[in-house]
Amino acid sequence: MHAYDLLVVGSANADLVIGVERRPAPGETVLGSDLAVHPGGKGANQAVAAARLGARTALLARVGDDAHGRLLLESQRAAGVDTAGVLVGGAPTGVALITVDPSGDNSIVVSPGANARLLPADVRAAGSLLAAARVVSVQLEIPLETVAEVVRGMAPGARLVLNPSPPAPLPAEVLAACDPLVVNEHEALTILGEQPPGASPEDWARSLLALGPRSVVVTLGAAGALVMDSRTDSGVRVPSPRVDAVDTTGAGDAFTAALAWRLSLGEELPPAAALAVRVGAAAVTTRGAQDSYPTAAEL
Ligand code: ADP
Repeated sequence: MHAYDLLVVGSANADLVIGVERRPAPGETVLGSDLAVHPGGKGANQAVAAARLGARTALLARVGDDAHGRLLLESQRAAGVDTAGVLVGGAPTGVALITVDPSGDNSIVVSPGANARLLPADVRAAGSLLAAARVVSVQLEIPLETVAEVVRGMAPGARLVLNPSPPAPLPAEVLAACDPLVVNEHEALTILGEQPPGASPEDWARSLLALGPRSVVVTLGAAGALVMDSRTDSGVRVPSPRVDAVDTTGAGDAFTAALAWRLSLGEELPPAAALAVRVGAAAVTTRGAQDSYPTAAEL
């Protein structure tokens, strides 16, 4: 019996958001709105999204010993995430400085801070957490060698879900462990390199499978998702419910968290993705990332 459906290993950031009339040019100063501070980071977002749906969820991450770290721990606990694996100290909490103009275009500076100090030794020290999870979900806002250590430390039979964001070249041992690799269009094309082998998401998924993952999921925004499994090699399109999109921030994280949770319950990839697109669609209908994630009842 596993203690957790899902262990998320990833980043936790404070998103510092200021609305501006115009984003500043080099050397320019502009005045903006009051500062809004939101809990964010792909790891923290996924853990909150899964826990709100009812998944027994734990987070392995690192925050600073500061007010942003406490904000992140508080939002995790409020969602029901087990935070025993959240390490504190070593560097300031990761921060994203975000300016948004009236058209919704933004400019973002990220300081990884404590996320860059989540090291392979931290993964080894969290062996009991790794052993207690059916599914482990990781992203790339933490060091790549830490992601590789997660792959090496996973319990036999546990399943790895990887969203390579921000996209970076992945070692073969990491690619081979993905079941699935979850990518949006941009991530798919970046990982495949300059010349994608075809124009359709089916072509990309097939080419991604050739890199080693056992399965691939390509998210397609309002069009939903495509799943492809190396064991069956057939692609399945999963349409999204049609909604009025207000803010797509964090939708991919909600999708991936929901998918990972359903896989932990033993569901096959297509029905798991069918639930995940509903969660992703719900997340775009209200503002923000973590604040927009539905509970099972709201879904
Ligand atoms: P990312 O947010 O990582 O760029 P996508 O844009 O593909 O990834 O969105 C991820 C998921 O969020 C989609 O598979 C879908 O379920 C949901 N989603 C995103 N945008 C919309 C939209 N406009 N309408 C409905 N669902 C959406």
